[in-house]
Formats: sequence, C-alpha cells, structure tokens
Amino acid sequence: MGIVVQKYGGSSLADADAIKRVARRIVEVKKSGHDVVVAVSAMGDTTDDLLDLAAAVTPLPPARELDMLQSAGERISMALVAMAISDLGYTARSFTGSQAGVITDAQHGKAKIIDVTPGRVTQAIGEGHIVIVAGFQGVSQDTKEITTLGRGGSDTTAVALAAALEADVCEIYTDVDGVFTADPRIVPSARKLDRVSYEEMLELAACGAKILHLRCVEYGRRYGIPIHVRSSFSQLEGTWVVSDTGLQGPEETTMEQPIIAGVAHDRSEAKITVVGVPDKVGEAARIFEALADAQINLDMIVQNVSAAATSLTDISFTLPRTDGQVAMTALARIQAEVGYDKLLYDDKIGKVSLIGAGMRSHPGITSKFFAALASAGVNIGMISTSEIRISVVVDENAVDDAVRATHTAFDLDADEVEAVVYGGTGR
Ligand code: ASP
Ligand code: MG
Repeated sequence: MGIVVQKYGGSSLADADAIKRVARRIVEVKKSGHDVVVAVSAMGDTTDDLLDLAAAVTPLPPARELDMLQSAGERISMALVAMAISDLGYTARSFTGSQAGVITDAQHGKAKIIDVTPGRVTQAIGEGHIVIVAGFQGVSQDTKEITTLGRGGSDTTAVALAAALEADVCEIYTDVDGVFTADPRIVPSARKLDRVSYEEMLELAACGAKILHLRCVEYGRRYGIPIHVRSSFSQLEGTWVVSDTGLQGPEETTMEQPIIAGVAHDRSEAKITVVGVPDKVGEAARIFEALADAQINLDMIVQNVSAAATSLTDISFTLPRTDGQVAMTALARIQAEVGYDKLLYDDKIGKVSLIGAGMRSHPGITSKFFAALASAGVNIGMISTSEIRISVVVDENAVDDAVRATHTAFDLDADEVEAVVYGGTGR
C-alpha cells in the first residue's frame, strides 16, 4: 500500500496528552499497512509566543534570527511526536525541514519551496520507520540559511512532501471537521463541504479562510494531490479538496455543483488611498512600481474617474496590514515625482468574499449579495470580482454581520449545528 502524508496543526498538538493521541492515530495508519510521513506544526500557540518573546527583546528582530527562533517550535513537536510513537512500540525518525530536503528560496519569513529532495525520508521509510518532519521550515539553496514559509506554512510542507513522495493522499488534521461554508466561530450554522475544487479552495484561502495555507492548495493543484481536511479530534470524514472533474463521481455526473462554496472573511488588510493623482499616462505605473520594489503584495485596486474640473483622480488599494508602514514610506518617497496630493491609511477595514464556481453560469448572484449586505445595514467600501468570487471591503466592525447575512441569503445555513470547534484559541 502507498504512502500517506499527514499534517497535524498546533491545536492538535497542544499538550502531552494531545501528542500521545496523535501518536496513536499515526500508528493506526501504519498498522493498516501504509507508510506514514507526518508534517507537524508547533504546539498550540508556540509560534505566537515565540514572536511575542522576540518583540519583547527588540522591536526590529533580524529576519534571519526570527526564522531560527520560529523554526524551533516545530522541532519541539517533531521530537515529542517521535518519542510518543516509540512509546507505542513503533519506531519513528524526526527530521528538520532542512534534513527532509525542503529546499526554499532565500526570503526569510515567507520563503517559497522550490524543490523537495527527500532522500533521508525515503531511506527512513525503507527501513520501516514512521517519519516525522518539522513543518513550516526549509533551507535556502543560495544562502544555506534556515527559512520559514509564512504563517500556517506546515500545510504546504505536507503537500510538498506528498508530491515529492508521490503519496496517495495528503491528510490535513485540524481542530474542525473540515472546510465549512463560513468560519464556524462567526456562523455556528455553517455547513461542512464534502468536496471543494482546488480553484474554489484557492479563492477561499486567498480571501481569509485560515483552514488551509494558500500555497498548499496551489501545490496540491499543480501536482494533483487530493487533500483531505479533517479533524484530529473525531473520526468523521472531512472535506476533500480535489480537481473540478473529481467533484463529480460517476453516479453524480448529472448533478450540478453547488453554486456557492462559501463565504470567507479577512481582517488582516488595510487600505491606502493616494489622493489627487494627476490623470496622466504613467502615473499608476510609477505608483505600483514603487510598491512592487518594496515587495508589497496588493489585493484590490480601485481608481476613480477623475474629476473633470481638476483632472485629478484617487487610487485606492488594499494590502496586508503588516506591510502598511513599508508601503506608506515607499509612496511618500515618490510624492514630488508623481505630484499627488496626500496619502490616507485605514486599517479598520475587513473584506467579505462570496465564492463559488457556479457563479460563472448563474446570473443574479451579485445583486443578491449586495441586497443581503444592504438589509444587514452594511456599507460597501470597495468591490472586486473574479470569475468565481465577489469581494467587498466593509468597516471592520461590520464583518460579522455581513458574513452572517450573506450566508443566510444564499441558503447555506445547516438545519442542525454541524460545526464543532474542538480546540485552538483561534489566535
Ligand atoms: N507554526 C506555524 C504557525 O503557527 C506554522 C503552522 O502552524 O503551520 O504559523
Ligand atoms: Mg500554527
């Protein structure tokens, strides 16, 4: 039988008992005849605690040292899980990301995996061991430094290992039973999705659903790895993230996919408005070039029609709040050159997104969405769309109401409460 790759998140590894429970689960799979490779996250809120510690030591920790610090969290988990497995009479070998061959680029804090060379992992499997790999970390090919993959990056470690090992499936164990139609912490009546396509999951993850790391879904899609998101606290079948065609089993080929996959929200963004930009060729290019040079990832961009009298226009865009300071500084530097009037910064915003592949073929989704927001008294700040998504920026305090109203308007509420949040602090 083939290789099963599993990933256990921090809330599934919160303390010694949790680690023993996870070890028993892993051993069950081994007993059933599979080879098992497990990627682990740091225990509980360890990563946040480590970051708090760093902030207490210095306001500006060097990126290299932050990665050394954060990567320690996953090392603790991997060793403890391996010990718990040996206590059950099975042998396990733990490896750091670097030892497991997770090769990344050189960007500290948000490194991308560029290759996985799992020689030591396959050797250990061949010798009959269960393999435990520290998630969220790798080693840069160029600098030889330890890197981390960005918050939530252990998911990506798991899927990258699954691809490199040609595993049958990558199981992502978390503290809820799967991917829900909305965050159960906000919408208790959210429904579990049995299946969701890679592209819908990509939009959900990009729009703030924290259940899966965005790049893990990209990886899964590229290599065709089925991802099974499920709870480590129950035996329930979770959500399968699969290709579009995989959504229709043979008996279901005549059935339509649901129109809407879910409602996602994101409170991690800020909005910058560049006020009074001269309406001339090349101005937007100059502004966005400055932001690109500063390595800022932009999300929504809106340019107003310029006022006829003044020939001036406003350009607004959203970006991660953590990049706010850097972006403002980069833009301030080109004020004279561009000749804009001033900059406005607003981090009291939230983004609410409606996602579903069925949008392509069903008219009227947008009007229903906006009607739901209106009836909940939610004012819309910005709008952006893709083929299978509509997103709006709203006031930070209106996010919960907007999510609930939208969820109800699209009949996504379950009859009985299905969503159980088993653990985690949601931090
Ligand atoms: N421990 C890291 C984090 O908390 C990585 C992960 O959990 O996937 O972000
Ligand atoms: Mg974590």
